[in-house]
Amino acid sequence: MSDGGRPESVKPADESSLGRLDFLNLPPVINAAGKLTALGASAVYPAAARAGAEAARRYFVMEDLERAAGRFLSEVTGAEAGFVTSCAAAGIALSVAACVTEGDLNEISRVPFVHTRKNKIVVQRGHVINFGADLLQMVRLGGGEPVQIGSVNKVEPYALEGNLTDETAAVLYVVSHHTSSHGMLSLPEVIAAAEARNVPVIVDAAAESDLKKYVKSGADLVVYSGHKAIGGPTSGVVVGREPLISYCRRQNRGIGRTMKVGKESIVGLLAALSIFVEEAEQPRSEESEPADAVRMQQLMAAIGSWPGVTMTVVRDRTRPIHRLQVHVDPDKARLGADEVVRRLEEGNPIIKTRNHQLEHGIIQIDPRTMEPGDDAAIARRLRQIFSGAAD
Ligand SMILES: *Cc1c(COP(=O)(O)O)cnc(C)c1O
Repeated sequence: MSDGGRPESVKPADESSLGRLDFLNLPPVINAAGKLTALGASAVYPAAARAGAEAARRYFVMEDLERAAGRFLSEVTGAEAGFVTSCAAAGIALSVAACVTEGDLNEISRVPFVHTRKNKIVVQRGHVINFGADLLQMVRLGGGEPVQIGSVNKVEPYALEGNLTDETAAVLYVVSHHTSSHGMLSLPEVIAAAEARNVPVIVDAAAESDLKKYVKSGADLVVYSGHKAIGGPTSGVVVGREPLISYCRRQNRGIGRTMKVGKESIVGLLAALSIFVEEAEQPRSEESEPADAVRMQQLMAAIGSWPGVTMTVVRDRTRPIHRLQVHVDPDKARLGADEVVRRLEEGNPIIKTRNHQLEHGIIQIDPRTMEPGDDAAIARRLRQIFSGAAD
C-alpha cells in the first residue's frame, strides 16, 4: 500500500482498460427490447459515463453537490426544487414519506411505521401497476397506506372527492403505458380536486421524456427514472415544490439511507440530463417521418417475407416511439413466437426483443436501445430462424 492507502494493484483506468469486460466472460447483448431494468435500462451517453467516472475519482462536499444538483434540476424542469435518489421506485417511496411525515424527524425515524393517521395515499385502481415490483409496496415503504379508488376501468369524480379526507397525505398519479388506458380521471381533474382540499399530488412519470409537462400542470412532486428516457446512470429524480423536496431530502436520515446515490451517479445523471435537454430542444421537422419509423421499415425489408410472418411498424400508445411488430402465426410459420424468442436469445450475441405480447404471437423490436450494427445482426438471425422453419 502507498499513496494514502490505495492498493498498488489497482491502477487508474486508462484507455486500454476501458471497454474491457472480458474477465466477466459474458456474451454481448443486443437490446431491441427497450429501456428495461432487466437489461441494464439504458446505455449511458458516453460523455455522461465519462463525467460519472471522473466524479468517482474525486471528493465533494456532498451537501453542496446535492444542492447544485437541485438547482440544475430546477432549471431543466421548471420546478422549485429537486433531488436525486437511487431510482424512480425510491423516488416514489421518498415522496410518499415526505408527504406523510411532513418533515417531522421523529416520524422520519419511524417510517414506514409512522404514528400519524394522516398517511392515506389515494390511487386510482387503474394506476395500480407492477413495474417489476408493486407500486403499492413503494407507498407502504414510505409509510403510506394506499387507498385504491374506483375500478380498474372506471373512476368517477365522486370516488376521488369522497376519499380526500383529513387523513389523506397525498394523491399518487401514474403516467405509464402499464395503466388502464381509459376511464381514469385525468391529471388536471385530480389536481383540481386535490388542490381544493390542500392535498399534494405526486406524479410517477418514471419513463416519460417530457421533463416540464407535469410540473407545469401543477403537480407537487414529479418522479422520473434517471436511467430510462433521460439515458443516465441508474438513478431517480424527484422535482417539485418546497418544502416537500426538503422533506424528501430529509429522509436520508431514515429510509433514504437505503436508497443512497453516490457522487458518480449524481454527476453522471446531470451530465446525461444536459445532453438530453439539448437534444430535445433540437428543432424537428413535423412532416418528415420519424427516423426510427424509417429505420424499422428498413429492418422489415431486410428481414424479408416469410410464410406466417406479418410485420408492421407501430407507434407507442403514449410516447413518440416507433417499433417493428412481428406477428408469427405458429401454423403457417411452423414455429411459434416463443420459439423465435428462444432462438434469438440463445445465440451469440444474445438478442433481446420486447415480449409483452408474446402470448398473442407478437414480438416487438425497439430501436431506441439498438446500436448502429444491430439492425443487420437482427435481420440475419431472423432470416436464419424463419428459413430454417420453412425448410
Ligand atoms: C420503471 C418504472 C418505475 C420504476 O423505475 P425505477 O427507476 O427502475 O425504479 C416506476 N414507475 C413506472 C411507471 C415505471 O415505468
